[in-house]
Amino acid sequence: MLTSKLPSVGTTIFTRMSRLAAECGAINLSQGFPDFDGPQALREALARQALEGNQQYAPMTGLAALREQVAAQVARLYGRLVDAETEVTITPGATEAIFCAVQALVRPGDEVIVFDPCYDSYAPAVELAGGRCVHVPLSLPGFAIDWDLLESCLSARTRLIILNSPHNPSGALLSSDDLRLLAGLIREKPIYLISDEVYEHLVYDGARHASVLAHEELYARALVVSSFGKTYHVTGWKTGYVVAPAALSAELRKVHQFVTFCGVTPVQAALAEFMAAHPEHVEELPGFYQAKRDLFCSLLKDSGWQFTPSPSTYFQLADYSQIRPDLDDVAMAEWLTREQGVAVIPVSVFYQQPPAELRLVRFCFAKRDETLRAAAQRLRTCGER
Ligand code: PMP
Ligand code: GLN
Repeated sequence: MLTSKLPSVGTTIFTRMSRLAAECGAINLSQGFPDFDGPQALREALARQALEGNQQYAPMTGLAALREQVAAQVARLYGRLVDAETEVTITPGATEAIFCAVQALVRPGDEVIVFDPCYDSYAPAVELAGGRCVHVPLSLPGFAIDWDLLESCLSARTRLIILNSPHNPSGALLSSDDLRLLAGLIREKPIYLISDEVYEHLVYDGARHASVLAHEELYARALVVSSFGKTYHVTGWKTGYVVAPAALSAELRKVHQFVTFCGVTPVQAALAEFMAAHPEHVEELPGFYQAKRDLFCSLLKDSGWQFTPSPSTYFQLADYSQIRPDLDDVAMAEWLTREQGVAVIPVSVFYQQPPAELRLVRFCFAKRDETLRAAAQRLRTCGER
């Protein structure tokens, strides 16, 4: 009988909820992906690359043209000059990047700090490396790091801290003060960082994303992960990247070359071409998604749903305790999908130990305005029961 290496892992909540949405014909605000296409010029570039471009393996570290675009963007946005050759690695999605980074850093017996609610791929990657996750809950209601609690969770075995800002599912942001506090806390300790910044450009209300890339001391021990899927509305293209100092990039690449070796060539070429021609795309993203957030929030205003507009990401949390206080969030997500025709993600699944009073579900607002209107109409109706 096979003994599972991941006994407590099942099919992810994203797969389950998207499947249930399809079965029930519900509007799918669960799994995070846009229901609109990426920019036309980007799709045309891919079509051209697929017809006429190089069909063979990309370099293991990614196409030079794309790595150079990433390096240029990092310089422009965060003021860091990185070497495209030694510090930027293109990966088939941020998920692969995180997995490889964890395998490169974590040894059997090591402890890894993750903050709950925490993205679902972190803990299995740590377990497969023989490490142990130490789950540090973020403080409610703002999902902030409790610095005293974090300090008390560090030990001689702590090898890695996985940060995620802008944060999925809450939309909370780390500030540059947070990064300063973190730097002070780990200064004398041999602790590395993975900074998952896949929603780096989706930041609202004039706030700025405090990237680890902009922090000299933290960057020296960090692998910073991002995803073209989120930035260019093409999650199905599964292409991401890691920016890290040369020595850390070298260790990451040792793993990456035996997990997938390289990403898809025409996709990388198309992204490089589009980034070079349209640097304004990332500048326009906050306005584009903030309008969607504001529309969705205004449509749900004065219903039974309680929420504060999400500061970032394309997710909005909402408290449903005035609507169905009798249901836990998993049952609520199922009821909303089956009975009300709107699929959502329960928040408790992102916790090792969810707070007992948690009555939150997550909506993805990366949707056409008509989708948001149709969903909100159904959500208002159930709010009025
Ligand atoms: N990290 C977070 C926090 C995410 O929300 C996602 C989204 N899917 C990923 C990583 C993975 O990104 P990708 O689709 O590029 O693998
Ligand atoms: N990151 C996406 C979300 O949070 C899901 C990606 C996936 O399905 N693995 O919804």
